[in-house]
Amino acid sequence: MQYNLSCEQVTALLTFYAEEKLSAKLSSYVKAHLENCPECREKYIQLQNILKRFNEIQNEEIANPYVTKQYEDFKLNLSAYVDNELDDLENIKIKKIAISNPLARQDLEDIYTYKKLLHTSFEKTKNELKTDYSKSVICQLQEECSENQKLDPFLKITAIFFAMISCIVAGIISILYF
Ligand SMILES: [Zn+2]
Repeated sequence: MQYNLSCEQVTALLTFYAEEKLSAKLSSYVKAHLENCPECREKYIQLQNILKRFNEIQNEEIANPYVTKQYEDFKLNLSAYVDNELDDLENIKIKKIAISNPLARQDLEDIYTYKKLLHTSFEKTKNELKTDYSKSVICQLQEECSENQKLDPFLKITAIFFAMISCIVAGIISILYF
């Protein structure tokens, strides 16, 4: 039976698929989805281009005049920059390098596209997981209740409360009338 993946699931798997790290089965599910879904196919093409450029840059770096010490520093700080983890001075340095160095500029554009591409799907997956988790917890609780015929904890507390109240009332009545 063919298992149908959702767009969110496919997006989450896309980098692994592009790098051929999925099992044959899972890979065939992703492939089938890509054949039928233009949106995910577009994402996949973008991702492939980014990965291709990363490889090209790595191969060309030795001969490229833009590969300087400054550019190496830029690359080291790039993800920290995108995640807003740098101080103002370092931020300005990164921006300056990105303006003057086309390699750096391309890297920055790529990492933003890449993050945007995966971020939405990641958030959605996270939320789906949360819902699933709470659903499974609820199921577990309900099963336990029906299997063992346990008393609802709220009912238990209410019962104890009423028992206590009756005792007190009975006590007061006995003091007053006897
Ligand atoms: Zn899709």
